[in-house]
Amino acid sequence: MDLFEYQARDLFAKHGVPVLAGEVIDTPEAARAVAERLGGRAVVKAQVKTGGRGKAGGVKLAADPEDAVAKAGQILGMDIKGHTVHKVMLAETADIAEEYYVSFLLDRTNRTFLAMASVEGGVEIEEVAVSNPEALAKVPVDAIDGVTDEKAREIVAAARFPAELTDQVVEVLKTLWTVFVNEDALLVEVNPLVKTGDGKVIALDGKVSLDENAAFRQPDHEALEDKAAADPLEAAAKAKNLNYVKLDGEVGIIGNGAGLVMSTLDVVAYAGEQHGGVKPANFLDIGGGASAQVMANGLEIILGDPAVKSVFVNVFGGITACDEVANGIVQALELLKNKGEDVSKPLVVRLDGNNAELGRKILSDADHPLVQRVDTMDGAADKAAELAAAAR
Ligand code: GDP
Ligand code: MN
Repeated sequence: MDLFEYQARDLFAKHGVPVLAGEVIDTPEAARAVAERLGGRAVVKAQVKTGGRGKAGGVKLAADPEDAVAKAGQILGMDIKGHTVHKVMLAETADIAEEYYVSFLLDRTNRTFLAMASVEGGVEIEEVAVSNPEALAKVPVDAIDGVTDEKAREIVAAARFPAELTDQVVEVLKTLWTVFVNEDALLVEVNPLVKTGDGKVIALDGKVSLDENAAFRQPDHEALEDKAAADPLEAAAKAKNLNYVKLDGEVGIIGNGAGLVMSTLDVVAYAGEQHGGVKPANFLDIGGGASAQVMANGLEIILGDPAVKSVFVNVFGGITACDEVANGIVQALELLKNKGEDVSKPLVVRLDGNNAELGRKILSDADHPLVQRVDTMDGAADKAAELAAAAR
């Protein structure tokens, strides 16, 4: 999960990384009081989860509270690389003498962590990385040892920070590493890390990406989610603990096991080519122990997607046998009907594996008008694609 700059700033402040005072607002008028609190002058910064705000006109200096209202008005609503600005942060202005770059990230290729640092930070860092790679120091960080004083000095030396800043930058690196570890981050980046006119080192812009796999031990992180930006179907699925990803096609997909669902997406996309290019509408893995309730939850999400024209339920019985899944489907349709849901889209069901014969018999006996059984994966995908195309 990527954070907004103001959220990164708050995390930095919490752990003791030097930052300037800042507050986030979502109306131009609110800028007045904040600018007054910040001492009149302020920098107004678009809060969008993309870089290059400065170059896009999303970072502006305001001379006084009146000007802050005007600048906030210009930036709110702006489109930056496809992201609409709904919030701006007002921050104390910095007297910038130099702009540097530092970051920590997970280096998957080398199975370690990596520190990157440069004295040529600022809005051109991507350009520096390409045209002058020696100016971007890369130092591996061992997961067990972490960023010790010695490691921080190694990074500072590799990036050739000025000698008089060594102690300050060492402190910043060690504190940033604490943010990285304690917050279960995959990335913490500061660009620019600035030297001010009076020789202080301050983190002026922060980018943090948190590891969602650590959510169970980071109860505070849920509050950082951008709920407004989440897809409503994905949010509903998440609330029901389902592994669901919205896609842009018309064939709803339910399967058990991530691998089976992934290959189902491929098979449906392939079959769809013969039927006017219909595609899968989602990824949904209902996992091993698919009870009637879990099946009902899954079907409810998928049937609630207006783009879905047909549904393909693809189950390979393992620990959960096909007869249980078949009963689950029959009961799920009943549950949804009783809830008053509109159950009118055709379902194609393919059952194979443990107790497949029994499962198929249960579906045949139930004889639900919307359910068709097709016993091969390719055949079922083709049928589901055909039905979706016919309902367009
Ligand atoms: P980004 O373009 O999205 O990375 O946004 P940044 O927060 O990094 O801001 C871009 C640039 O704006 C920085 O590199 C600075 O040069 C400038 N900037 C940001 N805050 C201030 C400030 O308080 N004072 C001054 N003078 N410049 C600032
Ligand atoms: Mn930046």
